[in-house]
Amino acid sequence: MLKGKTAIVTGSTSGIGEGIAKAFAEAGVNVMFNGFGDKAEIDKLVADTAKQYGVKTAYNAADMSKPDQIAALVADAEKQLGGVDILVSNAGIQFTAPITEFPADKWESIIGINLSATFYLMKAALPGMQKKGWGRVINIASAHGLVASANKAAYVAAKHGVVGLTKVAALENAEKGITVNAICPGWVFTPLVDKQAKDRAAKEGKTEEQIKKELLEEKMPTMKFTTAEQIGGLALFLCSPSADNITGTTQSIDGGWTAE
Ligand code: NAD
Repeated sequence: MLKGKTAIVTGSTSGIGEGIAKAFAEAGVNVMFNGFGDKAEIDKLVADTAKQYGVKTAYNAADMSKPDQIAALVADAEKQLGGVDILVSNAGIQFTAPITEFPADKWESIIGINLSATFYLMKAALPGMQKKGWGRVINIASAHGLVASANKAAYVAAKHGVVGLTKVAALENAEKGITVNAICPGWVFTPLVDKQAKDRAAKEGKTEEQIKKELLEEKMPTMKFTTAEQIGGLALFLCSPSADNITGTTQSIDGGWTAE
């Protein structure tokens, strides 16, 4: 179904993005990887994915806080892989503190990477999709795109922004064969959450295992973390013909977090 199409997945050197990139590769989609990390490990991930699934892969190190690098990433995918059929805006960072203590530079970088990058990615990739008359955009928001938690001002503002931006892009492209949706995961145990759990364990004098249990008790009625593979599966569904008329939506995959 999706064989031969091309996807950009930002922040695919780790966690959720890596899970989505692999799910697409398994479905025969060529993948442009992006994100930071150890160069040898990234090279191996990109080469192994191509070999394992028989697809074309490439890597571009664009920094999502830099609009010119975002435009160059899209141009690179068009040049190396022949276009961008699927765009997944996933790269993101977190920082927690009360508003009164929230450092201005952290506010700026979270808004830049988690929100503005999604705008610049769509601005660069939508014209190619409009020309082809087919495209799928998936923006990785969060349960925090729908509800708030204390100490996450920048993250919650950015993710609510991503949800609004997704709706605007969906309306602008509604008759152009392009769907635009946001995925809103609950806790997924990736390095981003691992850091929060470790910080909290140190602050509260608890073990990381205790904190993991508390995170689930506080937010996820199913008492289970969502997995990157499950998010990959949901992203694939949003690119399938069954999802042709799903646009401008938020897809929660949060173990009941936002049902409460
Ligand atoms: P992660 O830390 O495992 O991965 C983040 C990825 O983004 C990495 O590949 C990193 O290199 C990349 N990245 C960071 N800054 C970048 C920049 N400036 N330019 C390019 N790439 C950059 O985190 P994750 O948990 O996989 O998070 C992925 C997305 O999912 C984020 O948008 C996050 O907000 C969202 N999310 C995560 C959870 C969760 O519980 N883990 C829940 C809801 C939403």
